Amino acid sequence: MPAVLEANALYRFYHAGDDETLALRGVSLRVERGEIVAVTGPSGSGKSTLLACLAGIDEPDGGTVTVMQRRMSHRSEADRSALRAAHIGIMLQSDNLFDGLTTAQNVWLQMVVARKRDPLRASELLHRVGLAQRSGARVETLSGGEAARVALAVALAADPAIVLADEPTGEVDAETERGLLELFADHRRRGGAMLIVSHSPALASQADRVLHLCDGRIVDA
Ligand code: ADP
Ligand code: MG
Repeated sequence: MPAVLEANALYRFYHAGDDETLALRGVSLRVERGEIVAVTGPSGSGKSTLLACLAGIDEPDGGTVTVMQRRMSHRSEADRSALRAAHIGIMLQSDNLFDGLTTAQNVWLQMVVARKRDPLRASELLHRVGLAQRSGARVETLSGGEAARVALAVALAADPAIVLADEPTGEVDAETERGLLELFADHRRRGGAMLIVSHSPALASQADRVLHLCDGRIVDA
């Protein structure tokens, strides 16, 4: 079966004056339908850079990214945004939500962008993340844990083929983490895949595979 997400020999270099940082040095990976893959590695090993390249937020300097058999890398920003909206849910470490909008509006906006408007699913998701009571609250009034749960609801709103998450349980308490893990399992049952950057042992134990990044390369555990 074709992979949901495929990366082939990704390279990413950053330049600052005479300094060159080799953030990714030939990373290849595949994520299958319904698979949960965890990515770990020390700080600075290239995890966030990899996630940004996979999501089409950043462009690799070499190599290709394919999402649902469509090439994501080396295309216009507009093409990448459209592919992302159709197939990918993203949860970054922060800044996932639009301030000034309510919890419910943030979830709805994602459905509109992905052209998958489903009011029932929107309210179901807000129940599942325990925020039905806060659906009318502006997101800047939420606690960190609440904001993380809304961010996951937004990432899942359009039933994406794959969710890409950068340390989604990094800033939340143990109970919130359990809730998020249940939603990940839910997403998998619906056939969705996930690639999650995380150091959480609880999360790693749910993953089908763990990839270790070190100095911009995938290494054996
Ligand atoms: P991780 O998420 O694993 O901590 P990152 O992907 O954030 O690692 O960073 C990988 C390497 O690339 C690090 O050495 C980091 O300093 C460097 N880096 C990341 N983003 C930039 C940038 N925008 N400009 C210059 N260097 C960067
Ligand atoms: Mg990072």
